[in-house]
Amino acid sequence: MNDRGRTQTQWWRFTRYKVEDDIIQPHENAELVVYDPWETFSRIEGVYRTVEPAYLELFRLAQKFEKVDRDANRDIETRFFEIPRFCARHGLLGILPATYTMIRLPIKRRKVDRSQPVHRRLGGRWKTFERGLEDPLPRKERDPATWSVDWYAGHDWAENDYFLRVREGKLTDEEFTAFFPGLPAEVTSKGDYPYPLPCSPGFWALYGERIRNFRGWAQRLLKCAETLSTYADSLQGREPLESEAPENVLFAWQQLNDIQSAAGRLFSLDGNFTEENASPALVATYALMILRDLQAGRRIRRCENCGLVFVSDDARASYCSPKCRHAAQQRRYRARSKSDSPPSSTPEKSALKKAGSKRARKEAAARPKG
Ligand SMILES: [Zn+2]
Repeated sequence: MNDRGRTQTQWWRFTRYKVEDDIIQPHENAELVVYDPWETFSRIEGVYRTVEPAYLELFRLAQKFEKVDRDANRDIETRFFEIPRFCARHGLLGILPATYTMIRLPIKRRKVDRSQPVHRRLGGRWKTFERGLEDPLPRKERDPATWSVDWYAGHDWAENDYFLRVREGKLTDEEFTAFFPGLPAEVTSKGDYPYPLPCSPGFWALYGERIRNFRGWAQRLLKCAETLSTYADSLQGREPLESEAPENVLFAWQQLNDIQSAAGRLFSLDGNFTEENASPALVATYALMILRDLQAGRRIRRCENCGLVFVSDDARASYCSPKCRHAAQQRRYRARSKSDSPPSSTPEKSALKKAGSKRARKEAAARPKG
């Protein structure tokens, strides 16, 4: 791959997060760190994998959410304690910068004119334009008394109830300001606050994500990846027209494409028109990674033994590990021998069986993963 087409983006994470009022936010004593999520992925792209892609960690978190729903007795912070740990390693998902393409400032109860500063997402990067942008919404559709921020969603993804409750392409004050738990206490009129440029250090200091949004995006991403994996397998070399794919597949395909397209390319205004790849959101980066993996023939599926989600180079793989493959083999073997001969469980026999499976497990663990 040449340098120009290389995917290199930066993302931000704090070294520590906390959950307060159901919002995941930076811890007071945390440090902001910049990193490139593609660094590890590029190293494992196109080669036999021994390291797992970062999105898999999000998928496993999403799987746990499915379980905690059944565990309603515990309070929400105990149930979601793994989210801050994930964020300390990878950062927040970037739901706000992925969902919107424009935030108009200043905002509340002022007449719209053409000289307001506007944060705009362009080619995967946010920039502030001080003046001169046309109002994208007709005047009559605006209600400055109700809506604090002028914006429009770039994705159908955002308009889906799964992710964010967006009505008629607009957000309420409460929904928007929930992204900013770090606003100074003396700010009384949150709608009038000059929100900093998304993805700038000032932005990260204020920004947080609601647990329900975070888990909604994680679970949706997982579902899309699983749906597309199953579909790709069922095709087995056939090539139907895109429009002939089942409804749920088309939906998954559209959603992953929508969210990955938030990442993009920007030609800088530096005289050389230098090309930069940028992603406004970790979810956009993950969606792109998932699609790249699907393209390379990798599939996302759940282990038939333990249920854990995994990514495999082998399209026929059904187990997450040699250990699980072996356990399933053993179970099948036992089921067969049970039906062949009447069950007899003398103590000697079951002890032998145990020893046998222990040895086999050890051997299986010594073999390389696949
Ligand atoms: Zn397993």
